[in-house]
Amino acid sequence: MRTTAKIIDGNALSKQLREDVAARTSALKARGLTPGLAVVLVGDNPASQVYVRNKVKACLDAGLHSVLEKYEATMTEAELLARVDALNNDPSIHGILVQLPLPAHIDAHKVIEAISPAKDVDGFHVASAGALMVGQPGFWPCTPYGCMKMLESIGYDLRGKHAVVIGRSNIVGKPMALMLLQKNATVTVCHSATANLKAMTLQADVIVAAVGKRNVLTADMVKPGAVVLDVGMNRDDAGKLCGDVDFAGVSQVASHITPVPGGVGPMTITMLLVNTLEAAERACAS
Ligand code: NAP
Repeated sequence: MRTTAKIIDGNALSKQLREDVAARTSALKARGLTPGLAVVLVGDNPASQVYVRNKVKACLDAGLHSVLEKYEATMTEAELLARVDALNNDPSIHGILVQLPLPAHIDAHKVIEAISPAKDVDGFHVASAGALMVGQPGFWPCTPYGCMKMLESIGYDLRGKHAVVIGRSNIVGKPMALMLLQKNATVTVCHSATANLKAMTLQADVIVAAVGKRNVLTADMVKPGAVVLDVGMNRDDAGKLCGDVDFAGVSQVASHITPVPGGVGPMTITMLLVNTLEAAERACAS
């Protein structure tokens, strides 16, 4: 397969950023503060179990303190809220992550809102979303934040460029659009009711696909030279991990492209480490 687009390697960039996290963590430790992340998992969703294990391992590898709290799916909402409250008041914990999805009897929004905004390293709290909206310091959601770092890594200047985001979820699409806007791109947000997706993507200098469906973006939908970031995580017919983008086709047209796996995925965990470290540094400064 001939590939013309340059690959934006999420593993390589993550390695570099995690080394920086490890160095800053050492510096904080030398001042007597170890950044700490608490990961809370309720129930036994197999994908969630893998995600939380990877998050905790990444923390420990970078020298951060990390605790994994695992609870039965029968845990009540009140019990979970009480755990979040305890973690809010635990000085050894600077970041709190409650792994989603939660069991149906627990109101995920209520739980996320119970996390102290100062420890909201997932960036899902309404206060974090509001801070991003008005351009104030807060925590940016890790996946779109990782996408921004990928653009930065290729020295891409967004000023005056047209960025098209496909997907409008609260955790990826919407914050992604705001981050691109903050860097002076002109942003179009597409979703399931967009009338002519191809007409939109063909105008784009940058495309972020965050849908969760294979082949949402094919080569005929991409302007030559566009930068394509693939957030999607899907399985192909053989059960292999793949993104939303037809990689083989689009990489013949784009200037840069992120692969799946090895693209945005590792960057999401990396930005969680960055946010946790940042939370600890802020706690140290206050
Ligand atoms: P989500 O909440 O299901 O949102 C999907 C979005 O795609 C929705 O806004 C939906 O529109 C839109 N959409 C659905 N079909 C479409 C179509 N045919 N054309 C245009 N837009 C369409 O998903 P999410 O949480 O944002 O995640 C998106 C994907 O990214 C998933 O594959 C997820 O697994 C992956 N993900 C990866 C990472 C990572 O670390 N790599 C992190 C988070 C998520 P409506 O709003 O109109 O329904």
